[in-house]
Amino acid sequence: MKAEIIAIGSELTCGARLDTNSQWLSVELEARGWTVQRHTTVADDRAGMIRCYQEAAQRCQLVLITGGLGPTLDDITRDTLAEAFDQPLVEDAVALKHIEALFQSRNREMPERNKVQALRPANSVSVHNAHGTAPGILMKLADPDCTIAVMPGVPAEMKLMFHEQIVAQLPQSGVFVVRTVIRTFGFGESDAERLLGELTARDRNPEVGITASNAVISLSVTARAATAEECEILSATVCEQIRERLGDAVFGTGDDDLHHVVADRLLQRDLRIAVLEGSTTGGLIGHWLTETESYATRLTHCQLFPTAAAIPSDDSWESELRQQGESLIRSGKADYVVLSSPGFLVREDNGVRRQQGSVTVFGRGLDSSHDVSMTGNLAIFRERAARIALNQLRLHLR
Ligand code: ATP
Ligand code: MG
Repeated sequence: MKAEIIAIGSELTCGARLDTNSQWLSVELEARGWTVQRHTTVADDRAGMIRCYQEAAQRCQLVLITGGLGPTLDDITRDTLAEAFDQPLVEDAVALKHIEALFQSRNREMPERNKVQALRPANSVSVHNAHGTAPGILMKLADPDCTIAVMPGVPAEMKLMFHEQIVAQLPQSGVFVVRTVIRTFGFGESDAERLLGELTARDRNPEVGITASNAVISLSVTARAATAEECEILSATVCEQIRERLGDAVFGTGDDDLHHVVADRLLQRDLRIAVLEGSTTGGLIGHWLTETESYATRLTHCQLFPTAAAIPSDDSWESELRQQGESLIRSGKADYVVLSSPGFLVREDNGVRRQQGSVTVFGRGLDSSHDVSMTGNLAIFRERAARIALNQLRLHLR
């Protein structure tokens, strides 16, 4: 079944605030078997809002709306909803009592203006807001067949109202959904698509989506079925096929990142690491490996060289750092050393800006160097370089 989400507020459309409500609600709805087909963000504008509700109700069976339920003049969600579906506004006695009680409990007199928050379209019910003054609104339309739920804009209030009040009122989608994210490193998006072949075709169940972020390719496997067990079976089968086809490139699931995998393996084997970082990785590896206290116990030496000149003899940074790393290993201070070079920005003849640098990982039979040069911005270059280094270590510690 199809759903849409509408976020209301000029502070959203002008860019002052980011609409995070719609993202959160989409995750919740998708997990309950709904397909969210559209997000709309609309300014506090009568005609625009009315058109938005009417059009959305024609397209899907569920519309979730957030924002514009406050007491001020620009909070017009109640009025516009009533107008959009030809309903008079009526005062909800229970909602009014709740708002009055809330002011009383704060030892404040209720401003006359707050009374409007107890209004709702006649064909709707008021939804209790245990955490604020703005009640929500639930409207079940017969023609078009659509449920509309309105919640406050304040994210914390919206989330509580959704879980405590709205979920139980939603039509059942009849569908279970299981979503698994497989994290991979070592090839590009189009390589992944080629290797996965028909698995990524549209209209398959499970659906396999590919997204790239900071050189990590994530494959989201979304299985839909009538029971949770069927979902699990569908999902497990496709995840297994993906793992077979992508082999070593798969390093984790969910929110796993390469440094989590590396640090966990170092911990399991009681191994330690030293990092000597030039601006190619700019301290990122040390930063990641000190993310938790237990990870940090693996990092025994961490040094940052922001420029080549910061290394004693700048024309031979590589042998300088290499010697330093080898001596850390010899003296038993580390089992592995990760080095990254000073990074350079090179402007090529054709005007292309190229970030240049390399990473090296060595120790315990591993000795691998990679040229990590690429065109692209510095932030991406650094993250990718750091992950290329960590990935060498991950593969070695398999
Ligand atoms: P209130 O009674 O607090 O006025 P409301 O329902 O009128 O509630 P808004 O006035 O629209 O809500 O917004 C209240 C706060 O919530 C503002 O800080 C606003 O930026 C934030 N907010 C509103 N909508 C969203 C959204 N879609 N995503 C994230 N934050 C939002
Ligand atoms: Mg408001």
